[in-house]
Amino acid sequence: MGYTLKWIGTPNFTPGRSSMVSEVTIHHAAGTSLASVDSVFLNPTSRASSHYAVQGNVVHQYVSEVNTAWTNGDGVLRASSNSRAITIEMVNSTGAPDWQIAENTFETTAQLVAKTLKTHGLGGAVRGKNVTWDQMYKATACPGPWMLANMDRFIRRVNQILSPPVVVPKQSPGIATNSANLVYSAHVQGLGWCERVRDGQWAGTKGFSRRLEAIRIDTQSVPGLRFGMAVHMQSEGWKDMGEVSPTTTLGSTGKSQRLEMIAPYIIENKTGRRLMFQVHMAGLGDSKAQQVTSSIPLAVAFGLGTTGQSRAIEAFRMWLT
Ligand SMILES: [Zn+2]
Repeated sequence: MGYTLKWIGTPNFTPGRSSMVSEVTIHHAAGTSLASVDSVFLNPTSRASSHYAVQGNVVHQYVSEVNTAWTNGDGVLRASSNSRAITIEMVNSTGAPDWQIAENTFETTAQLVAKTLKTHGLGGAVRGKNVTWDQMYKATACPGPWMLANMDRFIRRVNQILSPPVVVPKQSPGIATNSANLVYSAHVQGLGWCERVRDGQWAGTKGFSRRLEAIRIDTQSVPGLRFGMAVHMQSEGWKDMGEVSPTTTLGSTGKSQRLEMIAPYIIENKTGRRLMFQVHMAGLGDSKAQQVTSSIPLAVAFGLGTTGQSRAIEAFRMWLT
């Protein structure tokens, strides 16, 4: 993302405008070199210019947006639609007959159009209204068959840049390891208590920068299994929560405190299976999966997560194997 803007200038323009800016007009350069666009526009006898030309992530500017460029193919000195347009030349990546546009040129132009629509208060991109193209004004192939075929995608991309889709954080538990029926749930920043998951499914979120604040585990769902848990909470440090029951809140709610590390310990395990656990940490991703082996409360050396790094656990899972 992002592009570099370089001022080139041109003698070919009309000072000022006779209309408010109401559209951006797309052209193709009918050529594969930004340097040759520069030389045409720097030549006064060409009587041609545009506000911008784009190749890759480089944008050249020739005419100030307050002035009228001579780009669109209609009117005296092509001044008719030009008086209300910001005009952009897209340098091609291939020649006739397709006149393709490289994806990075396409993307940079979409960013430039989005910025221009925003600057001039023109709202979202509307095909043929505030985003226009040369062929609307003149019998010409410009902006070329490739760009015309991709115009809808271009408009969508501009609108996506103007208002990126809202991503709603949610739990994505994945598939359970088995049906041992070890059930647990996560209390997540901004989401509260999430839906209960089980047997190696992830409780909490990944990739949304949401701290895990508390865990509840339905220990009664697995006969013969009793365990305790120590938790390391933001600003409170280590705390042994004792034996975990279905009503034990491991962590805190309503305090905006992240869980940073957890250390379960076995009290009794008559299941004949190993109790495993794993955490997902902000910035570090998944920890290793670890068997709960210690039977000592506050066995912090056997915990997963971090301390002293202000780093949140974001998701947690547990399973019998
Ligand atoms: Zn054109």
